[in-house]
Amino acid sequence: MWPRGASLTIAAMNTQTSSSSALPSGQGSTSVLPRIAVLATGGTIAGAAADATNTSGYQAGVVGVDQLLDAVPALSTVARIAPEQIASVDSKDMAMALWTTLAQRINTLLASDDIDGVVVTHGTDTLEETAYLLHLTIKSDKPVVLTAAMRPASALSADGPLNLLNAVTVAAHSRSHGQGVLVAFNNRIHSARDVVKTSTYAVDAFQSPEIGALGWVQDGRVEFQRGVVRAHTLATEFVIGPNWPLVEIVVSYAGVSRSTVDALVAGGVRGIVVAGTGNGSIHASMQQALADAASQGVAVVRSSRVGSGHVMRNGAAPDDALGFISAGSLNPYKSRVLLMLALAAGGTGPVALQKVFDTY
Ligand code: ASP
Repeated sequence: MWPRGASLTIAAMNTQTSSSSALPSGQGSTSVLPRIAVLATGGTIAGAAADATNTSGYQAGVVGVDQLLDAVPALSTVARIAPEQIASVDSKDMAMALWTTLAQRINTLLASDDIDGVVVTHGTDTLEETAYLLHLTIKSDKPVVLTAAMRPASALSADGPLNLLNAVTVAAHSRSHGQGVLVAFNNRIHSARDVVKTSTYAVDAFQSPEIGALGWVQDGRVEFQRGVVRAHTLATEFVIGPNWPLVEIVVSYAGVSRSTVDALVAGGVRGIVVAGTGNGSIHASMQQALADAASQGVAVVRSSRVGSGHVMRNGAAPDDALGFISAGSLNPYKSRVLLMLALAAGGTGPVALQKVFDTY
């Protein structure tokens, strides 16, 4: 049933007697290795270029999960792997229907006693959105860890194989339980709520601005240095379903008009997240359009395009008077995920929706 290393025990790998954090799942030296499902969705980690020196002109999502796993023989010393090819997409093309499929599959796997944790391989472009979506809709305290790569599998110094090994190591570790969805990338462990992509090309492409990573993973060791405070996974009211309310993002900038907002409202949008300037401030023309939208029942969330910091309620705009919601420290893309889930769960009105943003 288990294709890789099914009969291996941890005894073979445990040479670091001084470090309990090197032990997956906190199990003893004769324990059977944890069973980790690796769900592949595509991305640069599964990308291929015509030659090994090409790290930008390649096709994402063309290398299958078996090939990805075969490139990392050391995985068999960390976990028994159950591979699944969920999709083969460039994550710039991630769709909500695929989110539903992925979240439902993870929930099914984790409900089984046969699976101890899940790793998802994903493209870097929308990883932070998928990770936060799963953080809010997975109904288990077992580890779910996303990973990715900045260089295609065919590249010199491809970063995918080590990221994959580290992600499985984190998913197999007992201390990863109950932390919500995690992202293991470039030796760091991030919370899905905080992590964002911050570089278009560097292998150190993910950060948790202001707050920092949760911990690190290196050479089989897993170390957490802080916990996750906001509600997630089992503690949320959100259930993944097939219906996704229409929520869009608009950006405020010098000279912006109200036309985009008006077009969205005419198109039946249920919610609008604005990536405002600074502390979520909005150009007067766009702010008037958003106030008009809110008065018609459209949920309007003020976030910021800045990339770090938080948006204060009734700070740069009179949220109470205009019926707006403040995103706090969520960026516009994660704010959209939360707003879609809240609206799908029947959330309505700025007071109730502000509570959602203050909770998650
Ligand atoms: N376009 C790719 C993707 O998101 C980029 C990557 O994975 O690094 O699938």
